[in-house]
Amino acid sequence: MRVINKYLADMYFHRRNGGLFCCSSCNAVLGFLNPQGYKYMKFWALCNCGQDVYFEIYRDKMPVLTKPHRPLYRDEHKYICQTCEEVAFSINKENVRNFAFNYVCRCGIEYDIPFKR
Ligand SMILES: [Zn+2]
Ligand SMILES: [Zn+2]
Repeated sequence: MRVINKYLADMYFHRRNGGLFCCSSCNAVLGFLNPQGYKYMKFWALCNCGQDVYFEIYRDKMPVLTKPHRPLYRDEHKYICQTCEEVAFSINKENVRNFAFNYVCRCGIEYDIPFKR
């Protein structure tokens, strides 16, 4: 599958290790998106350096999102789809103060975590 849309703000994906995403301001590694796992992901975080970072990425086509509020299964830093057990992504919690996401697994199940205030 190929990525057809990617929007990045103040962050970038690592050149050699495709799934790693980093803060553009301080270059801290914020997490890892499993390139095999996602259909869609929208991610927002506040880096420890104070930078807000954001990305939205999907392949095939933009899925129609509902309001899932379903948690991904979590194993330490890794978030895992409850249905197909594919690893979704991991977050480097030492490097982010806050984060939120919408995630659609390749199996079609949607997940999200809203902002914590
Ligand atoms: Zn930073
Ligand atoms: Zn899945």
